[in-house]
Amino acid sequence: MGTIAAALQAVRERIAKACAAAGREPGEVMLLAVSKTFPAQAVRAAWLAGQRAFAESYVQEALVKQTELGELAIEWHYIGPLQRNKTRPVAERFAWVHSVDRLELAERLSRQRPPGLPPLQVCVQVNVAAEPSKRGVHPDEALALAWQISRLPALRLRGFMTIPPVSQETEVQRAHFRVLAQLLAQARAQGLELDTLSMGMSQDLEAAIAEGATIVRVGTAIFGTRPAKDKQMAARSA
Ligand SMILES: *Cc1c(COP(=O)(O)O)cnc(C)c1O
Repeated sequence: MGTIAAALQAVRERIAKACAAAGREPGEVMLLAVSKTFPAQAVRAAWLAGQRAFAESYVQEALVKQTELGELAIEWHYIGPLQRNKTRPVAERFAWVHSVDRLELAERLSRQRPPGLPPLQVCVQVNVAAEPSKRGVHPDEALALAWQISRLPALRLRGFMTIPPVSQETEVQRAHFRVLAQLLAQARAQGLELDTLSMGMSQDLEAAIAEGATIVRVGTAIFGTRPAKDKQMAARSA
């Protein structure tokens, strides 16, 4: 078995174990493979090992990879920063967007979604610890934004996404994920038909699953360590 196939298998086992510990079915948690900075060849290796949903964070890089892998029926998810002037390719080339944190961006995505495609599946990104430098809507504003987005015609709002502060302590990790789970519960109690909590990465997927994650976004544990940020930037502008 190749390195990526073996790593993927190990991640699937972690998910199954975390589900068992939480009294949940493994089928309730979808594994999203985060392939940003890794070449099309790595995506192909994961595909051959049975992985079907992949996530990217940089629009230009994603478009190149999608073209190279055009013959594979991959479900592409966009999880990176959304810029106003780059919403069109995201609306056209992805099935899901996890990083919607402003109504204006959602409106653009809805307008730009090609009519022949199914609605774009979206999550509202929430800054659960209200960290000053981080993207995402403040938890106090998340429900109002969710209601507004739920009315846009070419989008289907599925739930919430977060990237919590890094912590090694399970209890701290879980407290952050719980903020998102409580938002989902409140939204549903208000009548929004949502089913998705996109939370948990390589370091903390167990804590996320314990708090109800339905999508875990895993990069490093499948593909290995990414190059440093400045190398990425250099590679992209080359
Ligand atoms: C890169 C990234 C991930 C994957 O993180 P790992 O720690 O490599 O598993 C998940 N979510 C988002 C939004 C990311 O940008």
